Amino acid sequence: MPEPAGVTAPRCRLCGTPLTETFVDLGMSPPCEYFLTPERLDAMERFYPLHVRLCPGCLLVQLPGYVDPEDVFVEYAYFSSYSDSWVQHAKTYAEAMIAKLGLGPGSLVTEAASNDGYLLQHFVAAGIPVLGIEPAANISEVAREKGVRTETCFLGEATGTELAARYGKADLVAGNNVYAHIPDVIDFTKGLRALVKDDGWVTIEVQYLRRLIERRQYDTIYHEHFQYYTALTIQRALRSGGLELVDIEELPTHGGSIRAYARPVEAAGAPSPAVARLLAEEAELGLDTVAGHAGFATSVAQIRNDVLEFLIAAARDGKTVAGYGAPGKGNTLLNHCGVRADLLSYTVDRNPYKHGRFLPGTHIPVFAPEKLAETRPDYVFVLPWNLRAELTEQLAYVAEWGAQLVFPIPRLEVVDPAPVPALAE
Ligand SMILES: [Zn+2]
Repeated sequence: MPEPAGVTAPRCRLCGTPLTETFVDLGMSPPCEYFLTPERLDAMERFYPLHVRLCPGCLLVQLPGYVDPEDVFVEYAYFSSYSDSWVQHAKTYAEAMIAKLGLGPGSLVTEAASNDGYLLQHFVAAGIPVLGIEPAANISEVAREKGVRTETCFLGEATGTELAARYGKADLVAGNNVYAHIPDVIDFTKGLRALVKDDGWVTIEVQYLRRLIERRQYDTIYHEHFQYYTALTIQRALRSGGLELVDIEELPTHGGSIRAYARPVEAAGAPSPAVARLLAEEAELGLDTVAGHAGFATSVAQIRNDVLEFLIAAARDGKTVAGYGAPGKGNTLLNHCGVRADLLSYTVDRNPYKHGRFLPGTHIPVFAPEKLAETRPDYVFVLPWNLRAELTEQLAYVAEWGAQLVFPIPRLEVVDPAPVPALAE
């Protein structure tokens, strides 16, 4: 007979060990991209745990599959090309890989979760055949219209094998910003292996857990992010599908990411000094042990206390506080802190889809950015901290009425809205 729910700890999706260790428990939260229409405000809302575990066996930090991925992704569609800096990042990557691997008209580049073709279009422009694999039908169609050959499906071992038989194996398989989003990491990795030539390359870009911990970016934990990797655990994850980590570099994207270069185990050879160096640095920090992951929960509690203390003090002093931005990460923070519209009266966002809607869980209303100048709040509480340099300039106009900006992460700071140098990454 199966155990009643809740009695047995969930198991590690990489090694099967029971997940008895907590990395951080952020309580219950609704899926962070479920912006509510006014009609939905009085309806029941689904909340799921944001209880991140640490596997005592392989040290993979992971969120058990509380939410069906199709449930999370149902309404929200991220079109990669909406961000200029992201398209530029992709172009730089494509140029570097073409040079590094000597790719040409006889090569094949395949991408898992290829989105609207934001990355592969740069290979197409260089005359290199491509194959995109994208689960969302509407987004695949946008890619095809751009001339990026795209198959609509989820990547796993079976689909990878089938696509490789149909289109050939790839010299390069890219998986950028997808490796955290897949609940079945072993099957997905086997899919990557099935797609790549025996002497080919796989590159993966993913948020780097070490930087998440150091920079206290706990709001980047949400239900779509199933895994949080170190060099050590990405090495283990890649091996689960027959790939070996051969090189690694750090990137400034998403508050601190890694790009892992992997090859089929048979062709891998010795890893680069960068792999050894990052593994040694992680060991120095204790990230090769369960104990070395402790302390993050304390940092998180401190941020919550600081946020609440600030907002309550502002309310007591009769000051008004409005938000800036309605990113997914903001919803993790606001739900975890228990902030509602009585403490943060509204927020603004540039995305028109969100105007007139309400943040999930907290029901804080979202308006167009012009609302700030209309209502002149005393403080503007900035939720996308990753755009700090850009926003400090963009929001310089709030100084006209003496408002200040508040950044909650990595530690709560109240600053004057004047240009500041970009944060060192
Ligand atoms: Zn494990």
